[in-house]
Amino acid sequence: MSAPIIRSLAELRALTRAWRQAGESIGVVPTMGALHEGHLSLVRAAKQGCDRVIVTLFVNPRQFNNPEDFAKYPRTELADAAILGPLAVDALFVPDAAEVYPAGHSTVVSVGDVSQPLEGAHRPGHFDGVATVVTLLFNMTQADRAYFGEKDWQQLQVVKRLVADLNMPIEIVPCPSVRDADGLALSSRNQRLSRKARAQAAALPNALFDAATAMAEGAYEPEVLAAARDTLAAAGFGEVEYLARCDSESLGPPIPGKPSRLLAAVWLDGVRLIDNVAVG
Ligand code: AMP
Repeated sequence: MSAPIIRSLAELRALTRAWRQAGESIGVVPTMGALHEGHLSLVRAAKQGCDRVIVTLFVNPRQFNNPEDFAKYPRTELADAAILGPLAVDALFVPDAAEVYPAGHSTVVSVGDVSQPLEGAHRPGHFDGVATVVTLLFNMTQADRAYFGEKDWQQLQVVKRLVADLNMPIEIVPCPSVRDADGLALSSRNQRLSRKARAQAAALPNALFDAATAMAEGAYEPEVLAAARDTLAAAGFGEVEYLARCDSESLGPPIPGKPSRLLAAVWLDGVRLIDNVAVG
């Protein structure tokens, strides 16, 4: 059986009201669909941690700075509902754009420093779109916990900051990146890679893990980063938008004694791939 699809906020509210009255906890897993094992790992974590689980499926136009990327984003609602069937989620919330942004909608939620570098610098407006839709989805679902993947590390930190700064009564639960056998992090965008490019793509996680290990062992950082860029170029990758070691939480420069993270956005075969790994 497929997951029950709910399209209207009124219908969703009737469900969540009944659940809350029964004293049940609610978990939400926000997604843009084209679901894969990475998404399912979040759903499984939510099922373990909450009485009720809502998966949201909304390709949020406001977080795409590139209209072509929005147009090309895979939309596979029926397959998504089917793949969720065995996980027995309580609702698959699939609002249309007018339900999320009704006429006259004019509020934008903007998170400060943590959303400025990396993705923020290369995708202007992206995190405003994310913070706005996440705020809306939290209010719409009334969830107690929300599950986010470490695959989108900066997004996770932006959402944590948002919830802390606005005192939102919701717990953010981070979930580890799910990778294919060759190490490539699962992503809906991987479908757009040619067979040849898909075979080359594992060079990205390999380069990141090797560089992170070298840094943790004390190698000179600029040399390690240059070597990683050379490895990616040799493997057939195109432009490296960023490849940087940052403080794990603020995404600013690394802070001695605090955890740091190596993050990258790189083009391959016309597809923009992002990934990140812990250093040390
Ligand atoms: P998306 O549908 O790509 O916006 O992703 C929805 C959620 O799934 C986000 O919290 C992502 O970080 C998470 N996610 C996507 N890919 C993976 C992955 N490979 N492993 C873990 N979480 C993921």
